Amino acid sequence: MNKSASILIIYTGGTIGMIHDKNSNSLKPVDFQRIKDLIPELQKFDYHLSTHCFDTPVDSSNMNPDLWIETVKIIEKNYNEYDGFVILHGTDTMAYTASALSFLLENINKPVILTGSQLPLESLRTDAKENLITAIEIAAAKQNNQSIVTEVCIYFEYQLYRGNRTHKFSAEDFEAFRSVNYPILAEAGVDIRFNHSVIQKQSTNAFKVYNKLDNNIAILKLFPGFTEQYVSAILNIRGLKAVIIETYGAGNAPVDLCFLSILETAIQKGIIILNITQCNGGSVEHGKYETSAMLERIGIISGKDMTLESAVAKLMFLLGNYADVTEIKNMLQTSLRGELS
Ligand code: ASP
Repeated sequence: MNKSASILIIYTGGTIGMIHDKNSNSLKPVDFQRIKDLIPELQKFDYHLSTHCFDTPVDSSNMNPDLWIETVKIIEKNYNEYDGFVILHGTDTMAYTASALSFLLENINKPVILTGSQLPLESLRTDAKENLITAIEIAAAKQNNQSIVTEVCIYFEYQLYRGNRTHKFSAEDFEAFRSVNYPILAEAGVDIRFNHSVIQKQSTNAFKVYNKLDNNIAILKLFPGFTEQYVSAILNIRGLKAVIIETYGAGNAPVDLCFLSILETAIQKGIIILNITQCNGGSVEHGKYETSAMLERIGIISGKDMTLESAVAKLMFLLGNYADVTEIKNMLQTSLRGELS
């Protein structure tokens, strides 16, 4: 552990820094000074801790691609000066943000650890202190003078996850996140035990930051009884470039000729359709059942075991930075940042 590590804490908002507003009787974000006052322990670290606060901290339901780009720009500007980055973020969309940052930051050789809390800092039983303190420890952790974690992660309730593999699983348990399709990168007990074999290896290629995202995408969630109008309305959205079709089980959809023909027409018009399962664990396997074989036949791309959050971020990233549809389709099926097996 490097005692003099420099860590930049980026405060975007979220419950961790919220206080109860008497007028509206709801939780609202406050500025970071309040967080520092509520966690005097931060002064005990030997690390150099600096902070960057969003001008207007947000509830993470207000997160959007512009704020993701703002966040990567902060990291880019400070990349050489700091050993690691801790991002304080609301839990609601944290898995989306972690996924988006993982694509926007290529060959990152430093830790970017997102964390937050289920209870505000000022609450007596808050989970915020442990989450923040351990996230800082992980961001500072080094071995042979190199960061142990070299990817975008979420640290929450004693576990470190690959960010683009996570999903917010519970709105009330302290263990809010799950990474069903990828092992935990580290566990915090008395010591922080890193699972070195599953953490991204240091990259020898140059660090690169992307600053474009294209949100002309939609999600088509299947449910028994969906109508033709429902499918048509989504696939005919003006400017649409890609659709995530959220299918059943191993990537299955009804064998309905009308439905298939709407999808096929969209694909022929150049719209990318990506198949993601509604299940939290497991993978799309085109061809395992007849009900997915025909999806592959008409040109739907398998999202394999990607999370929905990762698929959303990956599509926005690829559409924003690449023009060729065939190239985008190939990249969708390739692991770019460890997001699929
Ligand atoms: N609504 C809050 C947010 O996502 C919830 C949280 O932080 O846990 O910003």
